[in-house]
Amino acid sequence: MSEHISGGKNFIQQIIEQDLAQGRFQGVHTRFPPEPNGYLHIGHAKAIVLNFSLAQQYGGKCNLRMDDTNPLTESTEYVEAIKEDVRWLGYDWEDRFYYASDYFEQLYQWAVELIKKGKAYVCDLSPEEIRQYRGTLTTPGRESPWRNRSVEENLELFERMRRGEFPEGSRTLRAKIDMAHPNLNMRDPVMYRILHAPHHRTGTKWCIYPTYDWAHGQCDSIEGITHSICTLEFENHRPLYDWFLDQLGVHHPRQIEFARLNLTYTVMSKRKLLQLVQEGHVRGWDDPRMPTLRGLRRRGYTPEAIRNFCHTIGVAKFNSTVDLALLEHCVREHLNKVAPRVMAVLRPLKLVIVNYPEDKVEYLEAINNPEDPQAGTRPVPFCRELYIEQDDFRLEPPPKYYRLAPGREVRLRYAYFVKCVEVVRDPATDQVVEVRCTYDPNTRGGAAPDGRKVKATLHWVSARHAIRAQVRLYNHLFTKPDPENVEEGKTFLDYLNPNSLEVLPECFIEPSVQGAQPGTRYQFERLGYFCVDPDSTPEKLVFNRTVSLKDTWAKVQKRLQQQSAG
Ligand code: ATP
Ligand code: MG
Repeated sequence: MSEHISGGKNFIQQIIEQDLAQGRFQGVHTRFPPEPNGYLHIGHAKAIVLNFSLAQQYGGKCNLRMDDTNPLTESTEYVEAIKEDVRWLGYDWEDRFYYASDYFEQLYQWAVELIKKGKAYVCDLSPEEIRQYRGTLTTPGRESPWRNRSVEENLELFERMRRGEFPEGSRTLRAKIDMAHPNLNMRDPVMYRILHAPHHRTGTKWCIYPTYDWAHGQCDSIEGITHSICTLEFENHRPLYDWFLDQLGVHHPRQIEFARLNLTYTVMSKRKLLQLVQEGHVRGWDDPRMPTLRGLRRRGYTPEAIRNFCHTIGVAKFNSTVDLALLEHCVREHLNKVAPRVMAVLRPLKLVIVNYPEDKVEYLEAINNPEDPQAGTRPVPFCRELYIEQDDFRLEPPPKYYRLAPGREVRLRYAYFVKCVEVVRDPATDQVVEVRCTYDPNTRGGAAPDGRKVKATLHWVSARHAIRAQVRLYNHLFTKPDPENVEEGKTFLDYLNPNSLEVLPECFIEPSVQGAQPGTRYQFERLGYFCVDPDSTPEKLVFNRTVSLKDTWAKVQKRLQQQSAG
C-alpha cells in the first residue's frame, strides 16, 4: 500500500526501532485480535491499520486472530464478517488466520504447570465472594480460604473441572499472586471459569474457558508476536501478563498501549451497537448510519479514505475524541479524486424552455472529473423540458441570492444561459410548479459572445431522459456530540436523532448512471458524494448520500490557521 505515514516517528515506532536496534526482537510481528461477538467498527479500523501497517513498514507480519474465549456471545457469523471487513479495508493476513480456541489445550497444560509450581489454585468462592474478597484501591484484599490447597488437590480438582463434574460458577482456577497488591489485577485473578456452554468451534469439548487475562498474553506468545499492541485500558493488566509469561518462561512479547478511537456523534461499544440493531433503531449492522465498517461501506466510504483517516489521527497515549468532520473530510478528499461527476436533481422543479423546439435533443459534452484528466467527457442530453433543484429558484430572491428568479438570467451547466420569463403555480397551493424560461442559442457551452455575465450556474437534468431514483440522505445518528455522556435518568438512546435518515422518493439523475451497480460512487454536482445502494432494482436506483460537499473540517482548520497567524 502506498499511503504515507507522515510526520516523525510515533511513540510505537520509536519503541519498535529501539527493540530492533537493541536486538530484543529480530523482526516485527503484530496481530489484530478481535473477539467475534460483533461487527467491526471504525475504532477497530484504527487498530487494524496500526497493526498491519507497522508490519508492512518494518517488513514483518501481522496475524488475524479471533479472540474467541467467551462462547456465550460469539458466533461464526461474526468470524466471517470480520474476515470480509479486514480484507475490504485492504489487508492480507496470508495464511496466518488463528483462533484463541486453537490454543485451549496448550493453555490448559500451562495452567497445570502453574499449579505444579504452586502458582495457581482451585477456589470454591462464588463470583460474588471473589469480588468481596478482592478489596478496593484503598484496602487490601483477603486471601481465599482455598488458597493453600495442596498441589495434588488442585491438580485433581482442576482435572475434574475440565471433565465437567462441577456446576457452572461453583469453582474457578486462580493465579496465586498477592491479595495485597496495589494493582487489583494482581490479586489472584481468575484464570478459568466453568461454563457449560457449547463453543462455536470446540463444541462441547470444553466446559471450562480461559479468561481474557489468562488467554491473551499466552496466545500472543504462541504466535511469536513481538509487539502486542492494545488499547489503554489494558495498561493495568500488563504487570499480570508479564507475570504469567515470566512464570512460564516462554517467548515474551512487548505490550504497547495506545488510546482507543472515540468519534463525535458516534457510539462505538459493540454492546450499544448491538442494541441499536436489535431494537430496530437502525436497519441493521450495515445501516449507512452505523460506524461499522459494513455501514460505512454501504454509505460509500472507501477503504483508502478510512486508512488515510487512521494515519492522519495517529496514535497517542491519552484518550480524546476525534471530530467526525475529520473522517468526512478524508472521505471527501479521496472521492474528489476518484468519483466521476454527474448531474442529479434531488428536489425537482420543472423548467420549460419556451423557445426551444419540442422534439429537439442536443448532446452536450460534460467533464467526468476535473481532478482526473484521464476520466474524459460524456454526452449529456439537453431538451425543452428539464428539472432543476427547487432550491435554485426563488419567487422573491433575498439579498445575495443569485440563482434563478423572475426576470433573472443564469447559466445551465455545460448548456446555455436561460432567463425566467414566467412561472406556473398550483392553483390549490399557490406553489410554483413550473418555471418557464427562454434560452439564448448563442450561449451554448455557457458563455455569451457579447461578454455579458451571469452570477449563478445551475445543474439540471433532461426530463425526458432522466432516470428516476430514490435518494437517502443521512445526518448524525445522535443529536449530541458525546452521546455516551448521558444525563441523569437517560440513556444514549435518548439522544438518537429522529432526522438521521431523510428519504427523497422521486429524484432525477442524468442517464449516464443507468445500470450502475451497487457500490458505484459519484459526485452529484453541487450536492455531494453518493453511492448506489444494494436496495436498487432494475426499475429504480437507490442512492445513499455518502457525504455532502460542505467541508466543515477544512473550515475549522482554516479558522485555526488564521487565529494562529493573526
Ligand atoms: P468492546 O469493548 O466494544 O467490546 P473491544 O475492544 O472489546 O470492544 P475487540 O473485538 O476485543 O473489541 O477489539 C479488537 C481489537 O480492536 C482490540 O485490540 C482493541 O484494542 C481494538 N479496538 C477496539 N475498539 C477500538 C477503538 N475504539 N479504537 C482503537 N482500537 C480499538
Ligand atoms: Mg475485547
